[in-house]
Amino acid sequence: MNDCNNPLIGAPSKPLPDKIGVIGAGTIGPDIAYYLKSAIPGLSLVLIDIVDDQLDKAIRRIEAYADKGVKRGKLTAQQAAGVMQNLTVSTDYSMLADCDWVIEAATENLDLKHKIFAQVESVVSKDALISSNTSAIPAAWLFSELRHPERCTVTHFFAPAFSNPVVEVVDWPGGSAAALEYLRWFFCATGKVPMVTTDVVCFMLDRIFDNWCNEAAYLITDASAREIDSIALDYVHAGPFDVLNFANGNEIIPEVNTMQANEEGDHYRPAPYFGSVKTWNTVPRGEPIAVPPEKADRIRDRLLGIVFSQTVDIVDRSIGTSADLELGCRLAFAFRKGPLKLMRELGEAEVTRIMQRLQNERPGMPLPGQDIARYYDFHQYLLVDDVDGVKVITIRRPEALNALDDELNDEIFSVIRRYEDDPQVKGFVLTGYGNRAFCAGADIGRFPEYLGDADAAAQYARDSSRLLRHIDGMTKPVVAAVNGMALGGGLELAFRCHGIVAVHAAWLQLPEITLGIVPGIGGMVIPYRRWPDAALTFHDMLRSGRKLDAETASKLNIIDELADDYADLITRAVQKVDSMQGRTVKIADESVTIPSFKPMQPMTTDGQVLSSTVISITENAVTEAALSPSLEAALEVGYLAFGKSACTAAAREGIESFQQRRQPDFGKTG
Ligand code: NAD
Repeated sequence: MNDCNNPLIGAPSKPLPDKIGVIGAGTIGPDIAYYLKSAIPGLSLVLIDIVDDQLDKAIRRIEAYADKGVKRGKLTAQQAAGVMQNLTVSTDYSMLADCDWVIEAATENLDLKHKIFAQVESVVSKDALISSNTSAIPAAWLFSELRHPERCTVTHFFAPAFSNPVVEVVDWPGGSAAALEYLRWFFCATGKVPMVTTDVVCFMLDRIFDNWCNEAAYLITDASAREIDSIALDYVHAGPFDVLNFANGNEIIPEVNTMQANEEGDHYRPAPYFGSVKTWNTVPRGEPIAVPPEKADRIRDRLLGIVFSQTVDIVDRSIGTSADLELGCRLAFAFRKGPLKLMRELGEAEVTRIMQRLQNERPGMPLPGQDIARYYDFHQYLLVDDVDGVKVITIRRPEALNALDDELNDEIFSVIRRYEDDPQVKGFVLTGYGNRAFCAGADIGRFPEYLGDADAAAQYARDSSRLLRHIDGMTKPVVAAVNGMALGGGLELAFRCHGIVAVHAAWLQLPEITLGIVPGIGGMVIPYRRWPDAALTFHDMLRSGRKLDAETASKLNIIDELADDYADLITRAVQKVDSMQGRTVKIADESVTIPSFKPMQPMTTDGQVLSSTVISITENAVTEAALSPSLEAALEVGYLAFGKSACTAAAREGIESFQQRRQPDFGKTG
């Protein structure tokens, strides 16, 4: 069994299900069904409702999703057809008999759900998993009366359930550890981000969301929905009333807040306005209106106050982890930053003032149970696990395919520094969260500020290399466990690790040339010094952006071992760390002989014209770096070439086109 923070470490106790039942074909049931059908090829799925019309509409909706998936290039026509195959709808519960798992997503009502679960238990086998998508009702209330409650829990999806990656999985005393671990594995393996919470009313994330909406509704006597949403846009992409309209939330919030009030105190009572409004009058997204300063301050303080109050309560009561709370608010509710990061940026004095104001105006809401600064002590982007004396560091930034940014780099560095002198720790494995990406490169975020400034860009590359230079000098092994795509800065990180293990489906790419820049933190240097026999492959990757699949990379000895799946990958990577004790090989310090560059068509394999100027910068830098008498000098060549590329018209065009989501036109820049 796997009790690691990364749910994919360790083999699952059973395979993916063959048949799943979803009960409830209302707002969210069909979305859950579509996610499952598109994530698991060949899955049989039966969707149950008591209303035929709901089932008819659900089928049409799922079909429309599949069509849209094909139009957007997310599904092939064959995959879309697969979604509609083995998909049955019915009003007959006996159709659930051979399901491996039944997910209930019917009307939010405890008595109704009790009846449904009794019916489900009477038809399924005693090993079948049963879960509820309830928004707020604790698992103990739902399942305690069942004959086999241990295989039951809450799996709480967020709208829209086919694309919103967050799923809360509830750890409750009556549920088995095996069911919990399997569900964590299942969700992570199928592209979701499972977050474990304790069994309290509202679980973790809706404590933030429901109370935030409720607080907004309390403010409505003194400010309009348009004004309140406008202020909220400072830190979220959509204000509370906008989201209420989107999610048809006007009925749910008062119900859930009443439940919370009955359990935890009257300060959670719902604002009286939900029943009288169907649709709120809101501002268009991204277009806030001006709000008089005093009113704006009050709205801001109260909305932030409720978010901070719920945040400290969640952390103090260990309802979920700080990292999940941060990520969940970003992914599920479109917060620009997680609440703990917001608190850190505002500083202790300001956070204290805001929470005090909330306390004065809305007495009873939770206050911090510890020093404010202690709430920031966690990794935002990393999961760290101990496997047989090896620290497995998982990069978890699913919204950016695990791309690196400065903070993430610093977090990896801090974990390595913390354990590298610890005699109990044999070394490190670096991997990515989920099955898709090891790391999709470095964030493009700060790059525009370096356009046209060679010195600043070169210095940025130098600074970004601190972690990599540190790994170069380490005696404790660091092994990259490449679980999917490794691109740009992510591949440069893998190149620096002392060993590379990858799954068969992984692939490597240096796509910088397609953006009019060069890989500046070792991508033009390290591969040639580590695998000189593969120099022609690197020439091609650097100049054309061509992908290298894991099988070929393995034949070229760039990848040391191939693994069958994620669990095998981590096992092999940990063994590799073991086998490299006291034997980490240093990257060649002396110059290296490489083949000269032959003239090429400046074009990618799929016909995108590339910049001849930047290709020439690449060729010169690779050649000069290979001749450099030390690794340090060679890396310096790379940093300077990165600075040089930042001053080209091609870089400006490449970065602009990326931001504007269009193809770059390097024909015009040269
Ligand atoms: P909904 O009211 O839109 O749909 C409920 C469906 O359940 C209806 O089609 C109804 O006919 C059906 N139903 C009622 N009794 C049934 C029975 N005995 N057997 C089978 N079907 C039955 O509700 P919804 O918004 O889809 O929410 C469903 C559940 O998911 C609720 O518990 C809700 O709190 C939760 N949830 C919803 C969302 C969301 O965004 N809608 C998000 C998270 C959680």
